[in-house]
This record gives sequence, C-alpha cells and structure tokens, in this order.
Amino acid sequence: PAMEDLNLRKFLYSIVEVLEESNPGVVFHMDDLQENLYIHADQGQIRQVFQNLISNALQAIDGDGVIILRADLVKKGYSVYCRIQVSDSGPGIPDEMQDKVFNPYFTTREDGTGLGLSIVERIIHDHKGRIWVESVPGEGTTFYLDLPYEELYG
Ligand code: ADP
Repeated sequence: PAMEDLNLRKFLYSIVEVLEESNPGVVFHMDDLQENLYIHADQGQIRQVFQNLISNALQAIDGDGVIILRADLVKKGYSVYCRIQVSDSGPGIPDEMQDKVFNPYFTTREDGTGLGLSIVERIIHDHKGRIWVESVPGEGTTFYLDLPYEELYG
C-alpha cells in the first residue's frame, strides 16, 4: 500500500466539498476538526472509509439533517491517537443491532450489500486503528475511529 502522511482536516474537507454540493438539504459541521492532525495512511483506502461512513450517514438522515465531523488528539499512556467522529442526526441504530453492523452482509436496506462497514473495519484494522459505534435511537449515530497519530518534525 502507498502510505503517506495525510493532513486529516484538509483530507476530510476535500471529501465533504464534493458531497455538500450534491446534498443541499444536509448541513455538514466541521468546526471541531483540529488543524494539525496527521495520520500515516493509504489515501485511497482512508478515502473509502469516509465515503462509506458519510454515505451511510446521508442515507440515515434521508435528505434533511446534520452530519458532524470532528477530530481530536487523544493520549492513552504512551500512545497517541487521532480520534475522528462521524455523527449523523438520523434515526439511530437499535441497541441489539449495534454489534452486528460491522458483520459482512449485515444490512437493513433493501438494496444494501452489508459490505460497507465490514470494509471500513478491515481498513481501520490494517491501519492499526479501532472503530466502534454509539447510537441513540431517535437521536442519531456516531462512529468513532482511533488512528495512530503521526508526529511530524521539521
Ligand atoms: P449497507 O449500507 O449496504 O447496508 P453497511 O455495512 O454500510 O452496508 O451498513 C450495514 C447496516 O448498518 C445498514 O444496513 C444499516 O442498518 C446500519 N447503519 C450503518 N450506518 C448507519 C447510520 N449512520 N445510521 C443508521 N444505521 C446505520
């Protein structure tokens, strides 16, 4: 894989820019994206991750709603992570379904493949990261991604 240092903020902006135009009823909030966060990543694969997550969010809110992207630096012991959150104001995921959404072929959509989140999970694990979901039915859903932080010198 072609690994490179990606500036998260720039990268996420470039993805959202395209989606904003084609989804005029949706508000994208990106105010809490910290400026100098870098990850060491395969750009094509990480693009796929956010395209899948945001496309799920867009389907969940179905035309009108809010999608919030945030990114923070998190320190755990000697490890430092970028924690990225993708939240939507959609209907949420029932409790009993939350641990199934990453399973291959799990879908509640008529035309779904159930592969999107399993691919996302595999890519995040390949990048030595973690992903999980928290959701409150009736309020919305947040996907959390922890990716190793790339410290850049010079
Ligand atoms: P697909 O989109 O083809 O169904 P995914 O793996 O991307 O496959 O998603 C699996 C299932 O997880 C979806 O069918 C849906 O039930 C649920 N899901 C994923 N993202 C969201 C979300 N943001 N809000 C509500 N449900 C979601």
